[in-house]
Amino acid sequence: MFGGGGRAPKKSDNTKYYEILGVSKTAAPEDLKKAYKKAAIKNHPDKGGDPEKFKELAQAYEVLSDPDKREIYDQYGEDGLKEGMQSGGHDPFDIFSSFFGGGGSPFGGGGMPGGSSRGRRQRRGEDVVHSLKVSLEDLYLGTSKKLSLSRNVLCSKCKGKGSKSGASTKCGGCQGTGMKVTIRHLGPSMIQQMQHACNECKGTGETISDKDRCGQCKGEKVAQEKKVLEVHVEKGMQNGQKITFPGEADEAPDTITGDIVFIIQQKEHPKFKRKGDDLFVEHSLSLTDALCGFQFVLNHLDGRQLLIKSNPGEVVKPDSFKAINDEGMPMYQRPFMKGKLYIHFSVDFPETLSLEQVKALEAALPSRASSQQLTDMELDECEETTLHDVNMEEEMRRKQHQAHSEAYDEDDDMPGGAQRVQCAQQ
Ligand SMILES: [Zn+2]
Ligand SMILES: [Zn+2]
Repeated sequence: MFGGGGRAPKKSDNTKYYEILGVSKTAAPEDLKKAYKKAAIKNHPDKGGDPEKFKELAQAYEVLSDPDKREIYDQYGEDGLKEGMQSGGHDPFDIFSSFFGGGGSPFGGGGMPGGSSRGRRQRRGEDVVHSLKVSLEDLYLGTSKKLSLSRNVLCSKCKGKGSKSGASTKCGGCQGTGMKVTIRHLGPSMIQQMQHACNECKGTGETISDKDRCGQCKGEKVAQEKKVLEVHVEKGMQNGQKITFPGEADEAPDTITGDIVFIIQQKEHPKFKRKGDDLFVEHSLSLTDALCGFQFVLNHLDGRQLLIKSNPGEVVKPDSFKAINDEGMPMYQRPFMKGKLYIHFSVDFPETLSLEQVKALEAALPSRASSQQLTDMELDECEETTLHDVNMEEEMRRKQHQAHSEAYDEDDDMPGGAQRVQCAQQ
């Protein structure tokens, strides 16, 4: 967990945050805290304060209350902080949102800053996301899948405190923030700052004395637990749709437990393609089928056999579509409504015909277009030509290759010439 990036240490504005809080640049941490509390109460939006001003206060205090961040700010101003703050866990709006109960906020809610003795804030734990492969048949019929997962839960003995007495002390390595910032000088005008979890307290911001450690979790605060989740895949769910189990992710102290989220990943089907609630299927007809009519059986996703047939006298053209209503996918949460089933027809033409077949077809099919019947006079005016079979892809490839090698030949002259000049100089 780190943010990196070089920047010039220009003498930028590094007094603004002090001015916002109304303290001197040499103010002690206790004075900062006092000043912030006073200003926060005065400017609280619930008491008619300006939300922008309040946000500024929170941001200023967030930075100046953290010794590492304060040091960076004093040296480089706001610019020096941006990278680290974005990549780190300390968001300036974290405090802000906690005043409003964190409803709908990704940062979650928590206590008043500085309200509890150690100023603990509740974070929202990370969501655990799994992809769930589901067949098209399962999405058509609906199904449920049992999945066994292991997750962290708070130690039942110490309730996640990690100690027998429930006490812990602030980590000296990081002043209780859980994070350390290191600055690397990459050059005279470049610095890189890295934010990482404190190694002494593993990012928790606190330490527990050996004899006070909880016997059950050895101070780890959490234990692994196996859990079976039953995931209901409903009829008509879409690829990418989420199924959420709120608060079932890893538990951690002072953290709002995140969700377990399953994302439906629809498996490819050998026969049916899906677009929204509609299904598509490919079907190839012989020329005779296309001209004289056809019928075939289509096995549907639920095992039903659909008889599909043309209307009498109907001709099916190559690359045409026909649709059957209400044989597509069931609609999500409206499973009695269904999309359409589209059939895409291709027609296999015969490679050649015998003379007899041509005669018979000519007799049966509508007469030839008049433009094809030319008089001897008209024919005398024309030049004879010969039609060849071609593989169009192959033709295009050959032409492209030709064009490429011609261009290459032209370029090739230059470096060769330069080479000769260099050799002559040596
Ligand atoms: Zn620490
Ligand atoms: Zn424990």
